[in-house]
Amino acid sequence: MTHSKTSSLVFPAPVMPLVPVTDEASFFPVRRIFCVGRNYAEHAKEMGADPERDPPFFFTKPADAIVANGTDIPYPLATANLHHEVELVIAIGQGGTHIPTHSALDHVFGYAVGNDLTRRDLQAQAKKNGRPWDTAKGFDQSAPISSISPVTLCGHINSGEISLKVNGELRQTGDVSDMIWSVSEIISALSALFALQPGDLIFSGTPAGVGPLEPGDQVHAVIEGLTPLHHAISS
Ligand code: MN
Repeated sequence: MTHSKTSSLVFPAPVMPLVPVTDEASFFPVRRIFCVGRNYAEHAKEMGADPERDPPFFFTKPADAIVANGTDIPYPLATANLHHEVELVIAIGQGGTHIPTHSALDHVFGYAVGNDLTRRDLQAQAKKNGRPWDTAKGFDQSAPISSISPVTLCGHINSGEISLKVNGELRQTGDVSDMIWSVSEIISALSALFALQPGDLIFSGTPAGVGPLEPGDQVHAVIEGLTPLHHAISS
């Protein structure tokens, strides 16, 4: 059902989350946030999984989990073990279903640096009990993201350093070329499960070195060729 009269709304409609486009006075409207789990072998191992046996998989966050670059994030509710996960974010500009890998990159508008913030204690409980990951992954302000560099500016990101520092100390480092599923393979696999739409974001998985964040921490995340991401956990 669609509305032609805003006066029929029982409260004001939420504002659509927007991410700035690097070097442009325009914004990318966010429709959905998909995430890839265990897409780097060394991270799968540090989480106790076997990357040979367990292929990557998908989960989601709500679109309004987006946090603008440079924004302080309060320590989240209901956790005593908040973790950082630096990730390449794929911004979809053209939708599709059953997208073949050979044309998958045509669907990419651009790329950004994201932090898949995780309540690791709630995730451990969910895994133990065979329950969904929503409370561990899809909480408020769980998706800080840099501005999105359009492909016309940065090209396609299939290799290059990905790293994250906390208070200047290197915590995570890897190379985008180490992803188990490439950008094309992620788009192809996801589009077999959902009809992708312009505005969808895909967090593509994190390299090894995930760890805890504390109030007062300063987080700096970089991927070669993209706008760096910075945020603090406010105390
Ligand atoms: Mn992740």
